Amino acid sequence: MLENQVAIVTGSSRGIGKEIALELARMGADVVVNDLSASEAAKEVAKEIEAMGRKAMVIAADVSNSDDAKNLVNTTVKEMGRVDILVNNAGITRDGLLLRMSEADFDSVINVNLKGAFNTIKHITPVMLKQRSGRIVNMASVVGLMGNAGQVNYCASKAGIIGMTKAAARELGSRGITVNAIAPGFINTQMTEVLPEEVKKTYMTQIPLGRFGDVSDIAKTVGFLVSDGAAYITGQVISVNGGMYM
Ligand code: NAP
Repeated sequence: MLENQVAIVTGSSRGIGKEIALELARMGADVVVNDLSASEAAKEVAKEIEAMGRKAMVIAADVSNSDDAKNLVNTTVKEMGRVDILVNNAGITRDGLLLRMSEADFDSVINVNLKGAFNTIKHITPVMLKQRSGRIVNMASVVGLMGNAGQVNYCASKAGIIGMTKAAARELGSRGITVNAIAPGFINTQMTEVLPEEVKKTYMTQIPLGRFGDVSDIAKTVGFLVSDGAAYITGQVISVNGGMYM
């Protein structure tokens, strides 16, 4: 289905990004795995992809750094020949109540989650414009839509992702490039593992489907957005949250 296509998935050494990288490989794509340091975990993901008969490579890049993002895109094109799919998944949290949140914690979350997506989109756009095709999927969050106490920085970054998605979709649509966002609810990963049990219990009471999400729930949605079936979908935010927010 995605044979001969090349995908970059940022932040794909673990969690949601890892499953997205594996899912795109299962669908036939060659995949560039990224994290901050080309960790052993990232190399393992690449090995799993190669075991499926696809090409894979690991590129270390801090997406908040424009030069790193440029190198991520340029190395992909140099080594893999093209790039068809960009999934902006890398993200961090630095939670705290507004009154106590440091400027550094505000800045770092905006820099990775929001500016990171800008950096990769900016550098991939010339490549996709030339190809006159491309699929970009940005990871937002349910809290970017509904807000959440203790996450002013994170909610601002994810709401920003939604605005950026819509603006980029309008700019790039005429060249055959779609740009969409996914807003996951509570998904079981290292990011959510650290939350206190009581907080998790409270979230659970708000989820009509009665379970936290699995990484595959998000990866399958990315798979759909980059498939032929989603050719006429752009500028949208797809909520995958078990009904937590409607
Ligand atoms: P995770 O388990 O913490 O994994 C984060 C990934 O991002 C890691 O591979 C990490 O690599 C990478 N990363 C962090 N900073 C980076 C940077 N500056 N440059 C490049 N890579 C970087 O997170 P997750 O739970 O899978 O979340 C993935 C995405 O989904 C995030 O955007 C998150 O905000 C969003 N999301 C998650 C949930 C949830 O419930 N889990 C809900 C809504 C939205 P290193 O190991 O090198 O740090």
